[in-house]
Amino acid sequence: MTRIPVRNPRTGEVDYWITPPNVAEVCDRLRFAQRDWQSVDLDQRIAALQQWKQAIQHDREALIQALVADTGRFGVSVLEVDSVLSSLDRWCQLAPELLQETEKTTAIPFIDLKQDSVPYPLVGVISPWNFPLLLAMIDAIPALLAGCAVIVKPSEIAPRFIQPLLKTLDQVPELRSIFTFIEGAKETGAALIEQIDLICFTGSVKTGRQVAEMAAKRFIPAFLELGGKDPAIVLQSADLDLATSAILWGSVVNTGQSCLSIERIYVDQAIIEPFTEQLVSKAKQLKLAYPTIQDGEIGPIIAERQAAIISEQLQDAIDKGAIVQCGGNLENLDGGWWCDPTVLTKVNHSMKIMSEETFGPILPMMPFNTVGEAIALANDSIYGLSAAVFAESTTEALEVGDRIEAGAISINDAALTALIHEGEKNAFHASGMGGSRMGAAALKRFMRKKAYLIKTKPIRDPWWYV
Ligand code: NAD
Repeated sequence: MTRIPVRNPRTGEVDYWITPPNVAEVCDRLRFAQRDWQSVDLDQRIAALQQWKQAIQHDREALIQALVADTGRFGVSVLEVDSVLSSLDRWCQLAPELLQETEKTTAIPFIDLKQDSVPYPLVGVISPWNFPLLLAMIDAIPALLAGCAVIVKPSEIAPRFIQPLLKTLDQVPELRSIFTFIEGAKETGAALIEQIDLICFTGSVKTGRQVAEMAAKRFIPAFLELGGKDPAIVLQSADLDLATSAILWGSVVNTGQSCLSIERIYVDQAIIEPFTEQLVSKAKQLKLAYPTIQDGEIGPIIAERQAAIISEQLQDAIDKGAIVQCGGNLENLDGGWWCDPTVLTKVNHSMKIMSEETFGPILPMMPFNTVGEAIALANDSIYGLSAAVFAESTTEALEVGDRIEAGAISINDAALTALIHEGEKNAFHASGMGGSRMGAAALKRFMRKKAYLIKTKPIRDPWWYV
């Protein structure tokens, strides 16, 4: 198999290679071992995952270093490892209640119903590069507890964490036989969809559409978590200090490389001046994590192709009249691509920066005169992932949130679904498809419902012929 080169986001150099496996062979192996995994008690599956958690804790440093090399940023890499550890605990606690079987009577007195759920044998996960570990694991953990075998194909742009993670899995043979990560690019992803029984895909709308088509051809369930262009609406009554800090974080954390980044800001005309002043002053305080990784908050742009998109969108906006209030420079420093938090005013929806996903630390702002206008602007998008509303009272904010076509609305905060996974949500429009990955019910996506209809008395049914 041909090796695939991997670029380092801080140096721009190729310093790592990955090798795609024979996908069909790996899938056959996992599918065979899954039968045992499905039949063991849930307690045993939980014990295996807890054992794995300890192995990850033991190798935590190596995993963090691999993620640092993958992404060029430090703090978020630590957060990724720690949130996977706590996610393992959370799902292990939730699973017993979620996987309880129920027995019911039916409307017919001599027939009972036993409602069962059967795991899809082999679940495939295809994940992106922006949170390489977190998004490789988010669907895998509940699927494993449900009794599925799981095969994950992370992005070819940030794959260095795969080998250290496989080393931790080697320490739990029971889990290793039904769970793996494979290296590869889009060809490997496409080959995977040919083999599995259910696909969880996180990535772009363009690829998501191809994945949906491939899954439809095979009649396998597809759960798609795609791009976004999340709006924030700031009403006149909002606490400006709180709103500017939350929106800045929600826009530039992980250098804006997050599906649920705030990418459009709509502010009541009455407060636009103090709002802009505060936002720009706070944005200017943030520094690039350059030349050393500990230097500042803003890491490099991980994917070179994303740097080209950000640059093109910025230029398009400037050509159409946008004003750069701060930042605005996409720089190549020692081979890596960097961009300071960039506040833009005088933007409108004819600009790509207001209609296409940017995936960078860019904060374009527009004033509005009426709440109705703000809602219409927020909904003027092909996306519907999440949104934020800022107002003095929760009631006022909720009334606006109610009219926004998005899966999750943060009230007086931004991008909360990045941290709080309890709320069930479905993306609207092009942002995704399928049952909620958040909330306890996420685990049930990996089970097929199966009904046993049980005759309890040896009597003849009145509807039989003879
Ligand atoms: P991408 O669509 O280019 O790639 C995602 C994954 O799909 C990669 O592993 C890639 O190798 C694989 N792939 C590419 N072509 C394929 C094909 N034809 N068949 C099967 N697999 C294929 O996305 P990306 O650039 O890695 O990630 C960024 C995108 O992901 C952004 O649009 C972002 O909004 C989105 N995203 C969404 C969420 C969410 O939860 N909604 C979270 C993170 C990122």
